[in-house]
Amino acid sequence: MMGLRFLTIFSLLSLPCAYAATQARGGEILDYTLRVSIDIPASRITGVAKIPVKSGQEIKLNRGTLHLIEILLEGQKIAFPRQEEIVRIFPSRQGVMEIRYAGTFNFPKPPEGAIAQGAMNVPSDVVDGRGIFLTGIWYPQPDQMCHYHLTATLPDGYEAISEAETIRKTTNDGQTIFSFAFPHPLDSIHLTATNRYAIVQDHFNGIEIFAYFFHEDAGLAQTYIQNTKRYLRLYESLIGRYPYKRFSIVENFLPTGYSMPTYTLLGKEVVRLPFIVETSLGHEILHQWFGNLVYVDTAKGNWSEGLTTYLADHLYEEQKGLGFQYRKDLLIDYQSYVNDKNEFPLKDFQARTDFASKAVGYGKAAMVFHMLKSLIGQTAFYDSLKYFTAEMRFKKASWADLQRAFDKNSAKDLSWFFNQWVDRRGLLDLRIEDVRIKPREGKFEVRLIITQKKGIYEADLPVVFYSAAGKTRNLFHLNKEKNSLTVLLDDIPSRVVVDEDYDIARRLTPGEFPPVIARLIGDEEKMIALPTSRAEVYESVIDIFRKSGAAVRESKDITDADLRSASWIILGAQNPLAEKLYGAIKEEGGFTITIKEDPWNSSKVVGIIQAQSQEETDAAFAKIFHYGRYTHLSFDHGRNVHRQVAESGRGMAKDLAKEPIAVDPAKVKSLPEVIDHVASKKIIYVGETHNRFSHHVVQLEIIKNLHRKGKKVAIGMEMFQRPVQKVLDDYVAGKVDERDFLKKSEYFRRWGFDFNLYRPILQFARSEHIPVVALNIPKEIVDKVARSGLASLTGEEKKDVPTGMDFSDAAYKERLEKVFQEHEALRDRPFDFFYQAQILWDEAMSESIDTFLRKQPGYQMVVLAGNGHLAHGSGIPRRTMRRNGYDYAVVLNDVEIEKNVATYVVYPGVVEMEGPPKLMVSLREEEGKVTIEGFSQESVSQKAGLQVGDTILALDQTPIQSVDEVRIDLLSRKKGEKIRVKILRKNLITGDKELEFAVALQ
Ligand SMILES: [Zn+2]
Repeated sequence: MMGLRFLTIFSLLSLPCAYAATQARGGEILDYTLRVSIDIPASRITGVAKIPVKSGQEIKLNRGTLHLIEILLEGQKIAFPRQEEIVRIFPSRQGVMEIRYAGTFNFPKPPEGAIAQGAMNVPSDVVDGRGIFLTGIWYPQPDQMCHYHLTATLPDGYEAISEAETIRKTTNDGQTIFSFAFPHPLDSIHLTATNRYAIVQDHFNGIEIFAYFFHEDAGLAQTYIQNTKRYLRLYESLIGRYPYKRFSIVENFLPTGYSMPTYTLLGKEVVRLPFIVETSLGHEILHQWFGNLVYVDTAKGNWSEGLTTYLADHLYEEQKGLGFQYRKDLLIDYQSYVNDKNEFPLKDFQARTDFASKAVGYGKAAMVFHMLKSLIGQTAFYDSLKYFTAEMRFKKASWADLQRAFDKNSAKDLSWFFNQWVDRRGLLDLRIEDVRIKPREGKFEVRLIITQKKGIYEADLPVVFYSAAGKTRNLFHLNKEKNSLTVLLDDIPSRVVVDEDYDIARRLTPGEFPPVIARLIGDEEKMIALPTSRAEVYESVIDIFRKSGAAVRESKDITDADLRSASWIILGAQNPLAEKLYGAIKEEGGFTITIKEDPWNSSKVVGIIQAQSQEETDAAFAKIFHYGRYTHLSFDHGRNVHRQVAESGRGMAKDLAKEPIAVDPAKVKSLPEVIDHVASKKIIYVGETHNRFSHHVVQLEIIKNLHRKGKKVAIGMEMFQRPVQKVLDDYVAGKVDERDFLKKSEYFRRWGFDFNLYRPILQFARSEHIPVVALNIPKEIVDKVARSGLASLTGEEKKDVPTGMDFSDAAYKERLEKVFQEHEALRDRPFDFFYQAQILWDEAMSESIDTFLRKQPGYQMVVLAGNGHLAHGSGIPRRTMRRNGYDYAVVLNDVEIEKNVATYVVYPGVVEMEGPPKLMVSLREEEGKVTIEGFSQESVSQKAGLQVGDTILALDQTPIQSVDEVRIDLLSRKKGEKIRVKILRKNLITGDKELEFAVALQ
């Protein structure tokens, strides 16, 4: 068998086809004469088939749902099994067998839930008022090829089309009789007719061209005819003469994109779409060669869809310079829809039945032809196809026949290639393991290690090196798990990109794989987060996804394990899950879907669906399945008004050296100028490296300056955690002294950097009564999240977690991942937890800023935090912006200049700060006792007579019960100052003694 009908890949709408392949047929070619008449109101066909047979020759007929009235041999009735679907007959003598039959074809209902899997639901046979569409078992069908002679009797006014070199039409007594002549063997024949066709005729290069469009679409005929000529010209030059005398473009009342010998059937829904003539029409015309001239031996694998896709849809994009994008899209589809469970090798592809089989049989197969062309060269590639088409005309061909043609014309043994790509399932899975550059004789030797992760494939991998001088392209042969590739370059490369044009059928790396609708549809593990209100608006969404296996959850019941294990459908912008993952979601009108990365699992995605009303949902939702390659869609009453794909990387890229950037020293600004520029911003973030005093001097300068300008300034500080706000307020108000403040705020335990670094800022705030806001959340919570994730927090701890958190800043995540990789100490924990802790930290601080400014809208805030929380606006600034929309400036200290890293980067000169004097002891604190554990070298305390094990009771007159108290006491002292240290020394024999020593502080 070959199904002589083929499906089109449309870039937006894909036309459905319900055909499974029929059984392979062999044996000799029968002569089959078929006369049918059709009763349209009754949806009924009656027919007579005549087949000359020989004695004892087995005739196997598929009767499908037909009623076989009688079978005669040379006018004599013969017995046959009436119950079987496949009727086997062994004629007792030579003669003409005549089969009288009838059949009824109503329009069957499509199966439920089919749409969400991309299943096709066009019936194979329909006879009703819209027209006649017969492509299934509408006549008793032999399991072997036949020369068909079809005659159809239809009511007047009908125009009919079937496989035919010539069509004869006679009218008689209110009826029209069509006779179709086709001189080549076919495995089955089809018939389409309506009483609404306007026929336009033209010709090209000896070929009659007909356009059968419905009266209302007749204006399209010329466009289709002209484009048909264009495609015939193209393919005659690439592959060989068009095989028939006529070609017809036929509009169908069903949504098909089929190609039969001598005609194509295009659905009414699509013929008006402008891209159909640009893509699908050419695809169907090319099937006249691949599928309709050379038949497909489907049981051995259908090669024709991949080849047709490659030389039609792909070629048209390639001609526009967008071949790489088309190939990448094929790989995105493959990775979205194909998984370990539904993946199969090309030899097992027969017809598309869903998104996954299409991604293999069309997509992967097209990639295979692309790799084959690269391997043997363009000339040998087209020579092979010309040879193949000529050798196999009107015969059934398999992948093996294709290989023979390619072997012969390329003078190569391509067995390995066909084994690898046709018999094996899967794609290459590559990683750039390492890149090393070393200078050699005035050049640069670059060594690249590429590993194959899932099976070993052989392939020629294109690798491009970028440098200031341009790009250099190399091909490297891969054939092992670990491949070492070396190249000598004139210029030092700044970047290496592997397979940037998607010439290899491989899995995409995370950076190349954008969040798109296909990934949501294709994920077998889906979950739905119900909205907290207006659930009825999303009824059909819930229904369809539930039928395709999605679990349904109330937002409050969703666990972190759920978030990691599935792709999510979040219903409604106000959904608490959306807020938890992405902060606030912008509300949109109509019906929209937005796909985002799942911050809990980068291999999963989250789809946020919003709808204004149930009507909007019902008008638009089913359409999203045609837009698998998009990230965002918005519909207005079912009409797509916006669509967008998220950006993703091109090729597997690795930066080898940062690109040099330059600043213009003539434009350098002074700090006062910087302050003038940022002074009007509601929030001014000033970054720091915590232990650099000069950075704190810059911070203080900015605060003082604004204060002097008469602004109402508040200071937000990362260094203090929210629970100490009261103490901080008391300190600024002068109600407690510094000593009490430090003690009660647990400054040394919670922050720990030398207090002198921040002391001038806090003293200024105190003297000028400038509010200081504790931004941070308790260290214990952040530490716990970094250790064991957000999910580990108790109900009580969760109260401190901000409600809106946005995990979607991919660039920030990437920078944090770099930090994580560089710190050995962090790496015994999962990066996920580290990332959650960072976001929690940033979100909490941004929430604190927002809370203060809501209560005190008259204030401007200077926020002091580590450079890392502010760079590129990623950590705190943009999150605060999300909350309140206030404009801001970011001033960073001493960071490397990068584009958009900050509003300004300040480079203060080094400012020496004298730290507090030291006792030069190490102390242990236990139950209110501070004991000496050891001494540093040349310790002044040891010299003065203190010993290990001594408990410090007081410094001068101040009693000591904690290490903090020691630190606080030393803060206000000077080097060289003498201090009386009162201690308790234990002695088992002489008894414990209180002693006092004078220590000169160092
Ligand atoms: Zn096709």
